[in-house]
Amino acid sequence: MTKGNLHSSLNFPIGAGAGGSFAAYELRKLAAETNTPVEITVYERESHVGGRSTTVNAFDDPAYPIELGASIFVQVNYNLVNASRDLGLNVYSADHARPKESDDSIGIWDGSQFVFSLSNGYSWWNIGRLFWRYGMAPLRTKKLVKGTVGRFLRLYQKPFFPFSSLSDAAAAANLLDSTASSGEQFLHANDVDSLFAREIIQASTRVNYGQNLQLIHGLESIVCMATDGAVSIEGGNWRIFDGALKASAADIRLNTTVTGIVRNEDGSASLSSKSNTATEQTHETFDEVVIAGPLQYSDISIQPSLEHTPDIIPYVNLHVTLFASPHRISPKYFGQDSNSQVPETILTTLPEGLDLGSNEAGVGPSGFWSISTLRTVDRSESEDTQQHYVYKIFSPEQPTAGFIAAILGLNDETVDKDGSIGDLSKSDVSWFHEKMWNPYPVLYPRVTFEETLLAPGIWYTGGIESFISTMETSALMGRNVATLMFQSWEKNGLKSDHGAGSRAKTEL
Ligand SMILES: Cc1cc2nc3c(=O)[nH]c(=O)nc-3n(C[C@H](O)[C@H](O)[C@H](O)COP(=O)(O)OP(=O)(O)OC[C@H]3O[C@@H](n4cnc5c(N)ncnc54)[C@H](O)[C@@H]3O)c2cc1C
Repeated sequence: MTKGNLHSSLNFPIGAGAGGSFAAYELRKLAAETNTPVEITVYERESHVGGRSTTVNAFDDPAYPIELGASIFVQVNYNLVNASRDLGLNVYSADHARPKESDDSIGIWDGSQFVFSLSNGYSWWNIGRLFWRYGMAPLRTKKLVKGTVGRFLRLYQKPFFPFSSLSDAAAAANLLDSTASSGEQFLHANDVDSLFAREIIQASTRVNYGQNLQLIHGLESIVCMATDGAVSIEGGNWRIFDGALKASAADIRLNTTVTGIVRNEDGSASLSSKSNTATEQTHETFDEVVIAGPLQYSDISIQPSLEHTPDIIPYVNLHVTLFASPHRISPKYFGQDSNSQVPETILTTLPEGLDLGSNEAGVGPSGFWSISTLRTVDRSESEDTQQHYVYKIFSPEQPTAGFIAAILGLNDETVDKDGSIGDLSKSDVSWFHEKMWNPYPVLYPRVTFEETLLAPGIWYTGGIESFISTMETSALMGRNVATLMFQSWEKNGLKSDHGAGSRAKTEL
């Protein structure tokens, strides 16, 4: 097929996560507004849409969807909020299913004691107890969050949006002072007291990014405190990306891995892909390519080399353990008397005086980043009749059977303590699902970010992860590259009107 239309273009995002689906969604919108014919093909090596927004079903029952990956977004995440509304999805408060059986919903554990606990799930600010312990620090932090989020939101609008250089856009929005320093330095420079920083803000950077304040940069530390209006999508956050892709009318090729890209002299790109069930490669040519996810994990060979090759950077190793049990978390494990209830969400921090510097393996004495009680499940229709609790653990290592037994207060001497959760009796752990993720980069302070255009016709969304790593920012970057791409066609169109010719010619 030969396409000679001025703006007609074939485009393929690699990856059906937030970045790829929003690139397709935006491109379709821009094309529709201008009556431009565009064909969009999306390649996804997994069997499902969503990327790191992945939902699994507790007890394999669709009535109990649980986020294995990205779990919440917030009210200032306008791309996700607006798309949820436009796609007709139901949005829930992030903790809507959480059992409210204990007085304190959040406790912050330092490995030997709860240094602070509070009863309000996702908003840090309206709690008297917070001010009593930390003085002005919460107010100062709130102000800092407001100012930083306000500067970040400038990237959503002209003249900042679309941005061909994230580094330049971040500089123009006055955000580099926050990315250039560690969270600890940035908070100190803004007069936020170190007790509040360690006990509250660091608990948040640890649960959200598996990193301490001495390591993670200031901007991402502040993002962790912007939790107002935390929500998730009924049935799973992946539905936003599924809806966006469907609305883009893309040809979605699941179970298909892109293995190579050859950049042709005419600016088009030939890609090789392989269905997960076939042995033979397929080859197709496209006008534009969007690599929508971290290039370093995509296993794509690119010839000739890119003009801008993204650096390989360290990503966090995060073990997510979902499991169900008829037992509540044991107060004994947390040094409390047997009648008390431990908080439904246990966040962690480092004990006072423990300096792990900018150590990437900085979990410290707690050994885990967080333990959350997500919901209850009524199993009365199955063989047993109990109510079961569904828990989520974030940890840098796979939790052992001994650890799970200890937090559930089990005294089974026959259990191999170094074994895995599957070694525990089904009457104690009735369902589980484990996954090791590389969920986000180690967010070292930095002032430059990867390019959006890696070579002519090869776009990249993954550079935004070192700046802010969330579903929203990947969605923003997807929209950004789609808009830049569209503008480049318009520019070429103008050139074409003056005799330079169209670049949207593709042989398939
Ligand atoms: C446990 C966990 C908790 C998190 N919590 C939150 C949270 O609460 N809120 C939040 O906003 N964010 C959270 N995040 C981060 C968030 O999930 C990511 O920032 C975001 O989803 C990234 O989207 P993306 O599209 O850039 O990348 P991805 O979601 O990784 O999508 C890339 C896609 O590309 C596909 N792909 C890669 N290579 C190829 C290839 N060669 N061929 C075909 N397909 C390919 C992959 O299979 C993948 O589906 C969390 C992440 C994890 C893992």
